[in-house]
Amino acid sequence: MDYTAKIATNVASIPRSGIRDFFELVQGRDDVISLGVGEPDFVTPWHIREAAIYSLEKGQTTYTSNLGLLSLRKSISKYVDDFFHVQYEPAKEVLVTVGVSEAIDIALRALLNPGDEVIYHEPCYVSYSPSIVMAHGVPVPVVTTKEDEFSLKPDKVAAAITPKTRIIFINFPTNPTGACASREDLEGIAALAIKHDLLVLTDEIYSELRYDETNPHVSIASLPGMKERTILLHGFSKAFAMTGFRLGYACAPQPIIEAMMKIHQYSMLCAPIMSQNAAIEALENGQPAMIEMRNSYHQRRDFLVKRLNEIGLDCHTPGGAFYVFPDIRSTGLSSKEFAMRLLEEESVACVPGSAFGESGEGFLRCCYATAFDDIRTATDKMERFVNRLKN
Ligand code: PLP
Repeated sequence: MDYTAKIATNVASIPRSGIRDFFELVQGRDDVISLGVGEPDFVTPWHIREAAIYSLEKGQTTYTSNLGLLSLRKSISKYVDDFFHVQYEPAKEVLVTVGVSEAIDIALRALLNPGDEVIYHEPCYVSYSPSIVMAHGVPVPVVTTKEDEFSLKPDKVAAAITPKTRIIFINFPTNPTGACASREDLEGIAALAIKHDLLVLTDEIYSELRYDETNPHVSIASLPGMKERTILLHGFSKAFAMTGFRLGYACAPQPIIEAMMKIHQYSMLCAPIMSQNAAIEALENGQPAMIEMRNSYHQRRDFLVKRLNEIGLDCHTPGGAFYVFPDIRSTGLSSKEFAMRLLEEESVACVPGSAFGESGEGFLRCCYATAFDDIRTATDKMERFVNRLKN
């Protein structure tokens, strides 16, 4: 059987995740220190795990409403109001999903007609361009640069808008650069969305992980005139260290939630009930543990940025998430060569910047959701590696 002819052309056209490719090389190697996987090194706080266990003990092993437990949607609505200052009706404007991953997929599938263009900033999370293609849309990347600290400038967005543009897709703080958006830039992007009657899809999964208290997170959904055209995505994987629970949510005007729900009800039915019960506990009582984890990331970020700059890998201090994105161009290696050789010669795993789009070339993503001692050892090894390259 010629299977290549059997695979849908849009699926055949998308690449495998560069992160996944790279990490297959690391599988089964205990000697490797990984600054690679974008996943908290903390175990989910005990009281949240306990809520999941308790849910099972009570025999809660059934489907829930397609939208998610109403009690969870109420908690989400309150949390989003407190934290993002946007009000959503729990019964109609909140959809619980299987991670932000599912929310991205169904939002794009619900909103795009074939050929519609989606503007997004690059370097970006690996799933964005493939998810747009799988929804039969056209990815329109807007390159962000080190000189702008990888922020998205409204004039660049304006230049990318065409009559086919349907969605502006943003992600702040950003994976892989850690960039945060200023209120001013968000206002500029919002003005463009309103002027051209566009929707905004905003992935705010790292929004709690901001390290500069004088510059708190602003959601584009909270800006005047934006709630009605914004789909706000958030989840539990990062700030609450709950990746394995596979839980996220979308907040949006009812007709958009309804359209996303149509896909969700047939493809996913609902998110797992024990994860939903754990998520209620996370939202209601998870702040102290979350703040502790954030403080720890903050210290690690400062240490890692300082060490990378000492090593000679120019690195700005990103305001959020748990990634730094040093410039490795001075070494003369491509990002893939750098990452492969660092792995082979020093057993340190980082992700080549090119995995996050062409504009990530010349950079490396280092994740600091890794034990402090491992970061220290990894940077010592990187220093030895870079010194060898120079000599
Ligand atoms: N969005 C961004 C920017 C991410 O970095 C990730 C995971 O790394 C996701 C979404 C996926 O999150 P989830 O675990 O909620 O599916």
